[in-house]
Amino acid sequence: MSISNTQPPANFIRQRIDIDLAENQIKNVVTRFPPEPNGYLHIGHAKSICLNFGIAKDYEGHCFLRFDDTNPEKEAMEFVKAIQEDVKWLGFDWEDRLRHASDYFEQLFQYAVELIKSEKAYVCSLDGDAIRQMRGTLTEPGQDSPYRKRTVDENLDLFLRMRDGEFKDGAHVLRAKIDMSSPNLNMRDPIIYRVRHQHHQNTGDTWCIYPMYDFTHCLSDAIEGITHSLCTLEFEDHRPLYDWVLDNVSAPCHPQQIEFSRLTLNYTVTSKRLLAQLVNDGHVEGWDDPRMPTISGLRRRGFTPEAIRDFCDRIGITKKYNQIEMTLLENLVREDLDPKVNRRMAVLNPIKLVVTNYPDDLHEIFDAPNHPNKPEMGTRTIEFGKELVIERDDFMIDPPRKFFRMGPGREVRLRYAYIVTCTGFDVDENGEPSVIYCTYDPETKGGNTPDGRKVKGTIHWVSSHDGQVATVHLYDRLFTEENPAGSKARDFKDHLNPESLRVLSNAIVEPSVVQGTSIEHFQFERLGYFCTDPKTSTTDLVINRTISLRDTWSAQKGHKK
Ligand code: ATP
Ligand code: MG
Repeated sequence: MSISNTQPPANFIRQRIDIDLAENQIKNVVTRFPPEPNGYLHIGHAKSICLNFGIAKDYEGHCFLRFDDTNPEKEAMEFVKAIQEDVKWLGFDWEDRLRHASDYFEQLFQYAVELIKSEKAYVCSLDGDAIRQMRGTLTEPGQDSPYRKRTVDENLDLFLRMRDGEFKDGAHVLRAKIDMSSPNLNMRDPIIYRVRHQHHQNTGDTWCIYPMYDFTHCLSDAIEGITHSLCTLEFEDHRPLYDWVLDNVSAPCHPQQIEFSRLTLNYTVTSKRLLAQLVNDGHVEGWDDPRMPTISGLRRRGFTPEAIRDFCDRIGITKKYNQIEMTLLENLVREDLDPKVNRRMAVLNPIKLVVTNYPDDLHEIFDAPNHPNKPEMGTRTIEFGKELVIERDDFMIDPPRKFFRMGPGREVRLRYAYIVTCTGFDVDENGEPSVIYCTYDPETKGGNTPDGRKVKGTIHWVSSHDGQVATVHLYDRLFTEENPAGSKARDFKDHLNPESLRVLSNAIVEPSVVQGTSIEHFQFERLGYFCTDPKTSTTDLVINRTISLRDTWSAQKGHKK
């Protein structure tokens, strides 16, 4: 897959790299994307993926995909696989640089031994509560652990026995010996190893002690020769610890940590923890529910990698908090799909239309362009006949003058077929129209008016004879609040949009729309962009609406004002 060749956007990280290269601080740029496999990737991760892989590509360097897998109880193979699929789908390639922090467990263990030997780490036998209590607060210094004075031999002996499985979870931890009065809480003798008798998705039962993130991350970076370790702003306060660890062991190099602001998008949440709640509590169908801001959800919804990459380029990289509008992403999806997807006709809420003067057994075939402005995209055939379906909304019993669709006595163009005149209708027991009758003008084949008369309205239709039934999913935003996780007083789930999914189970679509094993994208004329649902079996036709043709949200907001 080709990634756009346009000039990469300048940002403070690229400026830093330019300086480092110019000053010969580094020869070659190496980055990494380090997800924890405890959930699926979301649109926020896409920002980090595009940044890390994008920089590596533009500077002809390398980017590692590294699983930051130090919390075995929360991590799973399902997530490891999904993450790889998503990064590839976004268009990036780690080549032979797939790593796990757990690949380095033995090396990390040896680095911890180094710290013990140089009296920079000790085994602490306080329990978790005591450690927390003695840590102090932002305004009060912490207190030294009574175990801080253990000798090197004592520490080595205990640490080896921790590794050998002699102790229960929580009995001992290994702590870096830094400074219990540091103004930075992360520097108050942070825990760097803990005992966890837990099976690990990559290392199985080899280990029963696991290193903590802050110890693991910087050393994994150094082992891989990362030059610029790019992470989100919440790690800024961890940078002194990142540097301390690298300065106090025999690490092969000292990567530079640089922080940037996270992506937050309105009307959704970009936190794995919150997304996991939606999945686990059954508010959505799964991590790849098309309403989820996960990469796999967006993919199933019909968003494209091109649009997501374009989005990540446009939002830029800064250190400022900035909530981005969902509308921006949606517009880029429209922009990307518009020139490349086939047009089709589909009727979502069908009502029967009978062409009374059309021969009973005639089925005419018309050629219709796949794209109105792109003849090179070819044509498909559509069948016309006596019985058709049109959209219920396209008919009114008593339409206002400006309603350029169907109403008694009115003329309208059936797209690519004929001009028809409505001659009557039936109603059901509720007074709702149930069948519409019309006559067609045989002189208007293809929808043309040789006599030059003006017919303003053009509506879409599908033949009842060859149209096929489909289930269509119409999606709306998952939350009704712009910042659903923004209030501490209310649970973000209180803001879920009860109408985020509408299922239409008797839509009728052209036969050229088929369910395959991969996603097919379409524009259904007048209705929006849609795609086949890749999760559905090939016998049922299930179609997801990616996005409407226009931004109806801004229009709605405009109305309210
Ligand atoms: P979450 O807060 O959603 O649980 P995380 O930071 O715990 O995310 P990781 O798997 O650790 O998830 O993230 C992998 C990388 O992606 C990290 O470098 C992290 O900084 C980056 N990242 C995560 N969320 C965002 C975001 N919203 N915007 C930009 N980068 C992000
Ligand atoms: Mg994280």
